[in-house]
Amino acid sequence: MIEHLSKSRYKRGLHCNKQLWLSTHKYDLGNYQKNFSALIGDKVGIGATEIFKDGKLVDTPFNKHEEAVQNTLEFLNDLKVGAIFEAAFSYNNINIRVDILERLENESWGIREVKSSKSIKDNFYHDISIQYYVLKNLNYKISSAQIMYVNENYVLKNNRVEWDKFFLRSEYKDLIENNTDEIQDNISYLKNIQIVDQEPNVSPGKSFCGGCEFWDYCIKDKPKDWIANIPRLHKSKKRILDEKNIDSISKIPNDFPFTEKQQIVVDSTKTNQVFRSKKFFYELKKFKPPVYFFDFETLSCALPTINNTKPFEKLPFQWSLHHLDLNKNIEHWEFLATEKKDYRKEGIEKLIDIVMNDEAKIVVYNQSFEKSVLNQMGDTFPELQDSLNGIINRIIDLEVFIKENYYHPDFQGSYSLKKVLPALLPDEKKYNEGNVSDGEQAQDNFYRLLFEEKDQENKKQIISNLLEYCKKDTESLLLIYQYFENL
Ligand code: SF4
Repeated sequence: MIEHLSKSRYKRGLHCNKQLWLSTHKYDLGNYQKNFSALIGDKVGIGATEIFKDGKLVDTPFNKHEEAVQNTLEFLNDLKVGAIFEAAFSYNNINIRVDILERLENESWGIREVKSSKSIKDNFYHDISIQYYVLKNLNYKISSAQIMYVNENYVLKNNRVEWDKFFLRSEYKDLIENNTDEIQDNISYLKNIQIVDQEPNVSPGKSFCGGCEFWDYCIKDKPKDWIANIPRLHKSKKRILDEKNIDSISKIPNDFPFTEKQQIVVDSTKTNQVFRSKKFFYELKKFKPPVYFFDFETLSCALPTINNTKPFEKLPFQWSLHHLDLNKNIEHWEFLATEKKDYRKEGIEKLIDIVMNDEAKIVVYNQSFEKSVLNQMGDTFPELQDSLNGIINRIIDLEVFIKENYYHPDFQGSYSLKKVLPALLPDEKKYNEGNVSDGEQAQDNFYRLLFEEKDQENKKQIISNLLEYCKKDTESLLLIYQYFENL
């Protein structure tokens, strides 16, 4: 029997029919990972249920759908139940779970789809419209269909989220009712994709596929010099290359039009030669010692975790700072919050104490991030504003320098430290080799450290992992600078 459609399959299938086909026929090829955003999304979803009085949870696993449908029926028939969480329904081989089904007046119901997002995204409509379609066809009276999303202006007080103020709502019922034919057409189209034997041919692209669990599978046969490595390649140009079956940079005709930056990537890849601009050494002088190398880690998630902060506010919980002096001596400082309190001022003051001892430049990688955090700290703690402005004025960006002046074919179109460091220093311990390999994992670890983990040994391990990760970040900047200095 062919797999059912679900709300996530419906939504994903409309974005990429190959994704739907693979999740139907080759599910095992997917690299499914629960990331930090999903963890917070679950907590937001649970928080939303607190708004609804007399609610009952259908506590049946997703792989036991028929049982979940039976349990839902019992709650539907019980007039004392004011809302059903994870309500399960099936219609015509479409299985759905409704985040919250609210009992309304006159025997009608309201669909509430909960999103841990601060804005309405186009694809939310697909989530809610398929639920509406199923319930209407099962003859339920639906008088409202709302997306509940995060009010980004909500401010946490007394360490307790007031969930009714935390969410904003957007009503979709009229829009859905005006588009029922389109929903039916979509369902027919997706069911047809599911039943064919042949895998759909969809050309993967970095922004189109962002976060897809089948990414590794879809790009497994792509060449090292894949055209997707050309930065900001417009989709019209990608389409021309796709139509000519060109997926390798080396096969692109020499007269194909590119921007100046793209041409550097293409030429360097084709010739396997490093690009170095004429002003490389002149610009490099700006990074001359004495100099600091600095990096923040911030927690930014839908759930505010410190009083007087808002959802998605960037909370700097960690930093690392290296100093290189004129005699090539290296010194290192670091900060990591380890207790459940407002840690921001302590961390910022420690940073100020160190860097205000001299006027050395402060090298970062992606200055807009560090500057935005420092500016926000200046707004939050006005007494520190002058010092923070002084720090901001000393920041210089190594990423900008590289983007303007240097390209290595092994960057593969990316200027992230994960690509740049191993391309320049292949023998160096890789940026992402430790137990924490990126900012998302750092947030996940920090959140667990403060709010979830109880075991002291595990806590110590998390602290050690985080310190190692952030230190490696600024050490990477220092090593890259030293590599350029020795050219
Ligand atoms: S990686 Fe891209 S092309 Fe492949 S299934 Fe996912 S979205 Fe579709």
